[in-house]
Formats: sequence, structure tokens, C-alpha cells
Amino acid sequence: MAETMEKGSISINTENIFPIIKKFLYSDHEIFLRELVSNAVDATQKLKKLASMGEFNGELGDLRIEVSFDKKKNTITVSDRGIGMTGEEIKKYINQIAFSGATEFIEKFKDKADAKDIIGKFGLGFYSAFMVSERVMIHSRSYKAAEAEGARWECDGSTEFELRPETRSDRGTEVVLHINKDSEEFLDEYRLKGILEKYCKFLPVEIKFGKKDESVEDGVDKDGKPKYTTVKKDRIINNPSPLWTKSPNDLKDEDYISFYKELYPFAEDPLFWIHLNVDYPFNLTGILYFPKVKNDFELNKNKIQLYSRQVFITDEVKDVVPDFLMLLHGVLDSPDIPLNVSRSYLQSDSNVKKISQHITKKVADKLQEMFKKDRSDFEKKWDDINIFVKYGMISDEKFYDRAKDFALLKNTQKKYYTLDEYREYVKDLQADKDKNIIYLYASDPAKQHSFIETANLKAYDVIIFDGPLDSHFINTLEQKLDKTQFRRVDSDTIDKLIVKDEKVESVLSQADQDKLKSIFEKAISNASMTVNMESLAPDHLPVTVTMSEWARRMKDMARTGGGGMYGFMGAMPDQYTVSINTNHKTAQRILHLENEDQQAQLAKQSYDLALLSQGMLTGADLTNFIKRSVELVS
Ligand code: ADP
Repeated sequence: MAETMEKGSISINTENIFPIIKKFLYSDHEIFLRELVSNAVDATQKLKKLASMGEFNGELGDLRIEVSFDKKKNTITVSDRGIGMTGEEIKKYINQIAFSGATEFIEKFKDKADAKDIIGKFGLGFYSAFMVSERVMIHSRSYKAAEAEGARWECDGSTEFELRPETRSDRGTEVVLHINKDSEEFLDEYRLKGILEKYCKFLPVEIKFGKKDESVEDGVDKDGKPKYTTVKKDRIINNPSPLWTKSPNDLKDEDYISFYKELYPFAEDPLFWIHLNVDYPFNLTGILYFPKVKNDFELNKNKIQLYSRQVFITDEVKDVVPDFLMLLHGVLDSPDIPLNVSRSYLQSDSNVKKISQHITKKVADKLQEMFKKDRSDFEKKWDDINIFVKYGMISDEKFYDRAKDFALLKNTQKKYYTLDEYREYVKDLQADKDKNIIYLYASDPAKQHSFIETANLKAYDVIIFDGPLDSHFINTLEQKLDKTQFRRVDSDTIDKLIVKDEKVESVLSQADQDKLKSIFEKAISNASMTVNMESLAPDHLPVTVTMSEWARRMKDMARTGGGGMYGFMGAMPDQYTVSINTNHKTAQRILHLENEDQQAQLAKQSYDLALLSQGMLTGADLTNFIKRSVELVS
């Protein structure tokens, strides 16, 4: 312990580290408070630990940390009643350790732009105070020292410091920042409160900041009703024991839901959650919530908060959480994530990879368990969760392997099948002549209703794929499932969707077919429509308008940003096939009409009906159709 005042120079092989720290930390000045409060928390936790081991037998007393500010004196103060430091310890921990850390920091990262996150890693946390201060004072007394043996350290951000003894009645540390001109914004109650709530909301030691009004019962009025008065109470910023630090066995559903509300006050209730609790081979706790996903995905992203020992670090969890789970909500807490390092470092970190894999596995396990335990409940949730599962299956092989047993296909009858069950269900009827199994699907059941009905008449089943990821999911399934092809139910006439060996003979001669074809071509006269004669069952629709599976997928790809050749496809006009059923009685009626105008009119009418059934008849075409129909009826 220094007997008298000591002046010294901090040995470091650069003139002045602060300009460098200031430069690196420029964009994130507010973290100084996180760093100082975290140090205060550490010091308090250490004292508690010593007490629990019997190494400290004094009074623990009130261990709250206090943050305060004084606008007149231009100061912000962080004080704790933790282990404190002797003068020697200040020299050792603040001067030497921090500065050797600083040297290393500067050597390693002087050329890197993203070094601002590295500060904590090199024990520079305390020095972030100089980003906002022109002078910093530490008043401290170690838990081991007597009153007279307190210490006072002072530094103005150069490499010179002053250390002198000081009498302090209380144990612990007080850090006083004399705020510089550029940082006066921090001398503001709302600003400080905001920063504390952002970074310190779940720190494990109570943090007091100012006072707040609280209404308390104060006797009864003359009618015997309780009276209330407003009193000023200490404002505690944080919840020192957040839910994820507790044991899942002690928690009820309500606890999880109310914690969710604490995190996202305006959100709807979550669907379900996963409580993570790992201690080997890395440390990870947290709660991941499955939210009700809204269509606006971007709004839902970046909701997971990352903590390190209850200190908030970031809500950018990319790389730590697999991409397909980015839509989840909740908190993750791990001291093993090198949270203070740059993003590129994070990606290659093996702990981060393991954590990401572990989260994937846990999510898959949870879904599997839900599926096994209560299938009908799982089916009810499927419409909300299928987006996660499909995204995972598309993007992550390992997840696909786990999810293939509980991923569901929903058909137009709103029945749900696993992949295996569905195959079993359709494999006989929907096999084509080459033994491919054809899965039919609808992307818009209302619009494709007539096609679905036609398929159902043949006893074919139709899956609903109306989600934003379904076209990609179909690609994945076609790669994974043996001899399986997906066709949208309106991509061809029914007999061509699933080609069987048997052929229906046309009742029309070739000459009649050619004649009919030219009648339709003239009546339709549209370059995007290719007319095709087909011999279908007589009860099949007379005219069907389709876009081929191939052409439509290309367009879908172009729309969802396939780029390259897909971009080119996207710019092409839509091409449709108009299939005329030569066996339908309409075909013969048209041929038997004497008058060419009448023939054209009836052809046009049946073509428009086909368009109408698919919602493709609009504008002037629709008006003309209605006029023509009125004439035909009257
Ligand atoms: P880090 O916290 O990463 O070690 P810091 O520069 O923030 O780096 O702090 C350096 C050291 O100073 C700490 O490890 C601790 O030993 C000591 N220290 C800082 N603040 C306090 C405090 N409030 N009470 C006791 N010791 C402290």
C-alpha cells in the first residue's frame, strides 16, 4: 500500500493509448457503462463467493450497486460494495494488467477496423471510461483493509496516473467519471436509464439508479377504503435472477410466458419454448421461444438476445444461431462465446459452431418429442411452425435427417401425413407408367379448385403448398425422396399430370380435330396460348388452361431471386397450354354448328369459362364474357 502520494508513468510502448481506444470505440461509446457496471458486479460476486467459502467473515450488508450522475459537477459515478482494491491492487489490476492488455490489443488490431468489439477481451473494459471522460477517479477500499487504508487513483487519459492513500469508511469501489465536453449527452437520466436497461437488465446484482414514484397504502379514508400516497422509492433497473438461470423443473408455463412478456411486451403469446441448459463441452443456457410468425419476416428477425453471464452483448445472433432459427425469440447466455471479438472471428470459432449445432439438435429433439407425445396438438401447431422446419430441412442436412420423421404434409382435406405415411398413401394410385410417384400439390386451393376436384375424381390426393418456402422445399424433397416428382395440380391436364399406360381414344377423326383446333386458335388468337387437342374422359372439363410445371418453377425461381438465367425467364411472358377435350360433348357441338361466328362464339365461351375458373379472366375480357353469356341465356 502506498504510504504517500505516488506519481507514476504507465509503462507502455506507445505514447498514448487513449486516442487509439477512442478511435476504435467511436461508434459505441455507451458501452462504457456496461463495462463499469460489469466490473462492479464481478467485484460483488467475488465478495459473495469469499463469504460463502468462509474467507470473508464481515458484514455483507446491502450489496446493491449504484449508478448516479451529477449534472452540475459533470460526473457519472458507479459504486459497489464488492471486494474493493488496495493501492497495490490498483497498480496491479488497473495500471499493469489493463495496460499490458492494451499493448497486446494495439499490436494485434491496430490495422483492423472492426476492433471495437475486442475491448473486453483484453481487459480494457475499465479504460472504455476514457471514451467519455476527461478524468477518471477510483476511490476504493479492499475488504481486507482498514478504514485508513483506502486508495484513490486518478488519471486524465494520458499515461500519467496519481495514486494516494485515502480514508474510506466503506468497503468497495467508487468510479467517478468527469465527463468530457463531447459526451455531455450521457449526463441525462433517460439516456443513462436507457443504456442500463439495454445492457444491465438481467445482471445478477441489483443495480440502483435514481428514484421512482410508487404508490403505497397509507391508512384508510373516512369510508374505510384504503388511501394511497406516492412515495419515492429506489429504482432498481434489473431483474437479478432471470428465468433462464433457473432450473426448468422449478418452472411452470406461466413463468415462461410472463418472462416472454418481459422481453417483448407487445408480442402475442409464444407457441412453445425450449429451455437450454448445457454445461459440457461448453456452457450455454437460454430459452428459445417459437413465436407466431407474421408474414413480415424482417420484423421478426433479430429478436434473440445474446448474453454473457447475464451481461447483454448483442441482438445480432447471426453465426451463433443457425440461419433457419433466426426467427425464434428469446435469450442465449454463454461465457464460451467469444462475444467481444469480431464477426469474422466468430464464424470460424469452433465453440460457436458447436453451439449452433447443439441448438439445431435441441430444436429437432423438442419437435420430435412434441410430435411423439401429442400428435394432434403437433398438427395444430404445424401451420405455424412448418416455416422453421422446412427452412431447416432445406438448409441443413443434419436437421433434415432429424426432421424427416416429423415433418408433415397437409392435403386439401386438411389431413396431415408424415413423409413416409404420405408415400404409403399415394404410391399405388399415383405411380406413373415409369413407376415414378407423382405428388400433386396446390399453391392456391381456392384458385385451383377445379383442378383439385378433377384430381380428386380420379382419387388422386393433393397437398397444400402455399408457404413462401414451399417451392424450395419441393426441390429438397425431390432430391431426397426416391423416384418422386412434384407437379402442381394445374400444370397439365389430369392424364398428363400422371401418365398411365391406358389411353383414351378420341371420338373425333383427325380431320375434325384439326378443324376444331383452328376454330379455337382463331377464337382465342393470343400468342401466349398454345392450343392442344387432347383425348380425355368425356366427363373431364371441355377446356383446361395450364402452365407447365417447368415454366412455372422457372418463373418462381426468378421471382424469389434466382438471378442469372432465371432472371431472364422472369422477364418472358407467361406461356400457357389450352387443352381442348375432344371427347367432351362441347367439341362435337362446336363442330356441328353451321355458322362460323357461332362456332367461334361457343369456342370463346368455353375458353373463357376455363379462364374464369382460375381467376384469369379480368378487365374487358370479363365484361365481354358476361355480355356474351347474357346473350346466350336470353
Ligand atoms: P476486466 O474486467 O476484463 O478484467 P478491466 O479493465 O475492466 O478488465 O478491469 C481490470 C481489473 O481491475 C479487473 O479484473 C479487476 O481486478 C479490477 N477492477 C476493476 N473494477 C473493479 C471494481 N469495481 N472492484 C474491484 N476490482 C475492480
